[in-house]
Amino acid sequence: MPETQSLQPTFVSFPRGALSGQGEVVLVDREAGVVVTDATPFHPVDHTWPDQPGDSGVLSVGGDRVVVTEAVMAALGDDGAFAVGTDIPVKRGADGWTWLVAHRIEGDIPASVTVGATAVLEVDAARRGGLSRGHTACHLASLALDAALADLWHKETGVDPLGNPDFEGRANQTSFIHADGSVDEYRLGKSLRKAGFDSAGFAESLQARQDRINELLAGWVAAGGESRIDVEGPSITDRRTWRSVLPGGEVGFLCGGTHVRSLQAFASITVALDLSDPQLLVMTTSVTPA
Ligand SMILES: [Zn+2]
Repeated sequence: MPETQSLQPTFVSFPRGALSGQGEVVLVDREAGVVVTDATPFHPVDHTWPDQPGDSGVLSVGGDRVVVTEAVMAALGDDGAFAVGTDIPVKRGADGWTWLVAHRIEGDIPASVTVGATAVLEVDAARRGGLSRGHTACHLASLALDAALADLWHKETGVDPLGNPDFEGRANQTSFIHADGSVDEYRLGKSLRKAGFDSAGFAESLQARQDRINELLAGWVAAGGESRIDVEGPSITDRRTWRSVLPGGEVGFLCGGTHVRSLQAFASITVALDLSDPQLLVMTTSVTPA
């Protein structure tokens, strides 16, 4: 059993861009190698949709400094069960659980890191910066993809934040963000064709579609609009929305990740489309930082 006391969902400061902060240690699980504080600047990987890796960095109590290999989600059940990361048996936000950010510690946790101690938390800023650029670029590329494929839909379908047919929402299967880029996979199966998408027409015009996406992205980067995260409250369970200003208007998605503050953070964003498997589109997004 971890050392703990009654807990509140962890307060998080990463949505406003914080890279350092302090927190009171509220749970230590020496066996699992994790420490939970009441507040943290660390962004945790989501166990339900693990698109953006968790932050890494350093946690210090007094003179003891330990390496945080990755911040992850953790959940404490009303019955006392404690689960970390992919071992959490329920979906994000489920009732009966208190939702926490856990810091995975490299090596043994020093005796000074105990419930009630004050921890100083420092995120690896360079890694966070790369992941934030990668995540914002991933969202922008998906909007440009929807726009570039809009004329391939022969039936009414739901629309994305720019008003284009929502290819992303219909077909996206996985999304993996890394420093300064992302890889997204889209299923081009029978159900998408039944929904009115012209997969054959897409395959025939792949290069022109890729060129169109890159042209749109170049225009959005050149406009250098604002990018931000709006929060409904201070804790890890409160809904967060990414918003950005594009030449066509403001866009937004529900999103738990971290993002740049302005599209001026980019020198360029480009994508490459791969359809070697005709059932599976792979979109690779690459960032050159400004
Ligand atoms: Zn996102």
